[in-house]
Amino acid sequence: PGRQDGEVGKAQQAAAAGEKAGGQPTIFSKIIDRTIPATILYEDDKCLVFRDVAPQAPVHFLVIPKRPIPRISHVVPQDTELLGHLMVVAARMAQAEGLADGYRLVINDGKHGAQSVYHLHLHVLGGRQMGWPPG
Ligand code: IMP
Repeated sequence: PGRQDGEVGKAQQAAAAGEKAGGQPTIFSKIIDRTIPATILYEDDKCLVFRDVAPQAPVHFLVIPKRPIPRISHVVPQDTELLGHLMVVAARMAQAEGLADGYRLVINDGKHGAQSVYHLHLHVLGGRQMGWPPG
């Protein structure tokens, strides 16, 4: 009762469509299924954490849901718990990585957000002083 399965279904279809748009799963799906290697820091049933291959700070890792939501602008209310989980894991992993002086969480969305991989991910960047505004 209260669950809007139709809405969840639509979101999942959108995610699947996003994956199919390029004719291939995204590179992050291949990291999840271990088809390509990554330096994995943490995994549970809902998410995976691994180091960014082109780090923009001394510490730069990504937190991704295993379910392939293509981008933050596609989330629905039923994703609330999952999104909260990703942020809690990001904060726990930042602590584990020694980022006691702070860090930055970033989600890029779409063209203006400069998103390049259409599988939702939180960037966690730290180990140096960040500037503001971002580029
Ligand atoms: P976006 O620009 O916000 O979509 O971020 C995508 C991020 O994924 C970039 O920071 C890339 O360096 C990173 N990335 C792309 N391919 C890989 C990979 O195979 N392993 C780890 N990180 C990757």
